[in-house]
Amino acid sequence: MSKRIILTGASSGIGLATAFKLADQGHTLLLAARRMQQLEALATEYPDQVFAFKADVTKVDDVKAMVNEAKAKMGGIDVLINNAGLGLFDPVAEGKLEDWHYMFDVNVKGLLSCVHACLPELRAQNGLVINLGSVASHHVFPNSGVYCATKHAVLAISESLRLELGSEIRVTTISPGAVNTEFIDQTTNDKLLQDYKPYFADGLSPEIIADQIAHCINAPGSAVISEIIIRPNKTK
Ligand code: NDP
Repeated sequence: MSKRIILTGASSGIGLATAFKLADQGHTLLLAARRMQQLEALATEYPDQVFAFKADVTKVDDVKAMVNEAKAKMGGIDVLINNAGLGLFDPVAEGKLEDWHYMFDVNVKGLLSCVHACLPELRAQNGLVINLGSVASHHVFPNSGVYCATKHAVLAISESLRLELGSEIRVTTISPGAVNTEFIDQTTNDKLLQDYKPYFADGLSPEIIADQIAHCINAPGSAVISEIIIRPNKTK
């Protein structure tokens, strides 16, 4: 059945692959990000089904406007996919305070703004929240401690929503290992960038994560998939 979906971080990587997949399946989508080119191309390809909206999730007013636009264009919201996020890697002793704060601003506070703005509508629709966690929601890795802290927080937010609102909404965390996207290119530490680039290049394709997200959305209402942890297959 077709759902009305807000997808953040839809301009590249996992978000863009998910946008293509869900549009192809006939869902109605409001795609949000700061870069508009890919969003507008999809909106043109799927008129009256896919809508593009420019939003920076660190700006509460942008998030509120995004949710208002979703309600106006789609008539309601059944699914919120909190995908926007970034990782800025550094050894902790060389960490830049503005990077640490910014990761929390996007990955945690931005996600919370979206949840807060969508909750009344999601509760009314018995909707679904999908949060992009990570294997870093469960483990702490060197050179990415603050990113891991943000993804631990994402899992905690998912769990608190499930515990308190589990009779009204479904909540799913998607927790991938390395995925081959632009993600690692945000890191400004040259040595780490060069060290990690091949690792991410060898990672899962974003389409594999999009398949998992679509699977959770299309799952029968009798089942809730609380979390999917998915890693690259090292036997290949
Ligand atoms: P990309 O860098 O390819 O995509 C990140 C997306 O987030 C972009 O669409 C970007 O859009 C958006 N974004 C970033 N900052 C903001 C902001 N302030 N406001 C709105 N949108 C923003 O990375 P991935 O696709 O890999 O990452 C998607 C999610 O998956 C993230 O939450 C990430 O932590 C998670 N993840 C990624 C893994 C990986 O190995 N790649 C592994 C595990 C989890 P724009 O710049 O246009 O605003």
